[in-house]
Amino acid sequence: MLNIQRKDYEALRQHGEETYPHECCGVLLGQMNEDGVRAVSSIARAANTRTDSAHNRYNIDPKELIRIQREGRQRGEDIIGFYHSHPDHPAQWSKTDLAEAHWFSCSYVITSVEKGKAVLTNAFELTGSDENDKQLVDEKIVVV
Ligand SMILES: [Zn+2]
Repeated sequence: MLNIQRKDYEALRQHGEETYPHECCGVLLGQMNEDGVRAVSSIARAANTRTDSAHNRYNIDPKELIRIQREGRQRGEDIIGFYHSHPDHPAQWSKTDLAEAHWFSCSYVITSVEKGKAVLTNAFELTGSDENDKQLVDEKIVVV
């Protein structure tokens, strides 16, 4: 389960509208609780470095990711997930999304943006123990 505050939820959806028709991407920061609930306490926008195919791919520069991680730790926050948008495509993960997901037990949030308007936002948890048995599993989002 992913707990997210209304303002962060709206902000990540709005990010997808701003970058339309390209994919937006960003990082969810917060706490992983013992009961398996991930609680988002802030989000960080990232630049999509996939200029070749930005309408259906995203990539976060590793240097930017490290900076986001470091700044989060200074606030006592860990990386607990990632988000991106699907311009004119459903809010479901693609084969590429699964192939490029490597953070186990993290949430992957996808927002469909149709004609520039954010529609559905879904979350998926990356489960499994290694690259061979990993899966993206439906996860409930609770907006608090
Ligand atoms: Zn995707």
